[in-house]
Amino acid sequence: MSDLFDIIKAEIQSDGPITVARYMELALAHPEHGYYMKQDPFGEEGDFTTAPEISQMFGEMIGLWTAVVWQAMGQPDPLNLVEMGPGRGTLMADALRAAYAMEDFDDAARLWLIETSPALRAKQKVAMTPSLMMPAWRDRFEDVGSGPLVVIGNEFFDALPIRQYERVEDGWRERLVGLNTAGDALTFTISSELADSSLIPEDLRDATETGGIFEHQPAACAVMRQVAARIVEHGGAALFIDYGHGEHGVGDTLQAVQNHEFSDVLANPGDADLTAHVDFQQLSEVAREAGAEVLGPVPQGAFLERLGMRQRADMLMMNASEEQMAEIDAAYARLTDSEQMGALFKVIAVVPPGFGVPPWAG
Ligand code: SAH
Repeated sequence: MSDLFDIIKAEIQSDGPITVARYMELALAHPEHGYYMKQDPFGEEGDFTTAPEISQMFGEMIGLWTAVVWQAMGQPDPLNLVEMGPGRGTLMADALRAAYAMEDFDDAARLWLIETSPALRAKQKVAMTPSLMMPAWRDRFEDVGSGPLVVIGNEFFDALPIRQYERVEDGWRERLVGLNTAGDALTFTISSELADSSLIPEDLRDATETGGIFEHQPAACAVMRQVAARIVEHGGAALFIDYGHGEHGVGDTLQAVQNHEFSDVLANPGDADLTAHVDFQQLSEVAREAGAEVLGPVPQGAFLERLGMRQRADMLMMNASEEQMAEIDAAYARLTDSEQMGALFKVIAVVPPGFGVPPWAG
């Protein structure tokens, strides 16, 4: 078993079973052995492929969105442009190239990359060089300087730790990770104490059958609360794209992916990506509580089409070989078709009250 298994085992032996959130935190973010800390997981040779790695068109559409929002804000200078969890930096590099088409945008924008992984910060540095924008890296959103801002996050929330609660006869109990009797593998168990059921949305609290699981996203909600509060105070907008559901529900969505295939969630901590579906209703409620307005969720396919990705694809095809044309078509379909990423992936925008509903969010 891995070093990380031994660390988790020692923690369970000393303190008892750990929450799913603690397990995710160790598996993804342990400073030495965490999944994101030690490697670049993206692309065909990695474990999974994200939208910006499929085609430059994705980042370009986000760049266009950013430029349009900056214009709607009255072109503040400086503008804090923030990306949460930028991965390899591909999205931001493509977005900047597109946003630079808007006059004066390059002078106004200050780029902040929120990234905890040293391995990925190094990749982002390489991606940013040709774009002529030197970013400032920070571990946390709180450390971004004050002033108007645009925040972008693609597949960021799905990587943050969740807690799981299971409906039992007499209420709800937290799902935990413990050790099997032989002590050589991790296994799911359940808390001996009842959970505070006010955490469970009212419409699910009593209506859920025994064994049903509700997922709470404390880490994602904390980030959303801060982002929304900052947008209300200083002006701006945030755009989050992720896979998940528009309304909260019951179900275990924790999953592990390794080499482009699903694997056992507890089998390879630190060597497999762990994610959970994003509950956009939970995040929207938090943003509204902080005084912001939430637009969407809009399916990713519709969002990209409204921003003009078809026209962009046609333009790219004008100078393309047969082979490249087929690639552009395939990427377009992968990003927009509802059987592929077009419907499961959704987009929400967080804006100050009275921002109005822009055409891409309608
Ligand atoms: N946006 C990129 C990468 C998504 S993967 C893309 O679309 O390709 C998730 C990213 O979030 C990685 O860069 C990971 O290192 C980063 N990350 C995960 N947890 C984080 C945290 N708590 N704070 C900051 N970054 C985090």
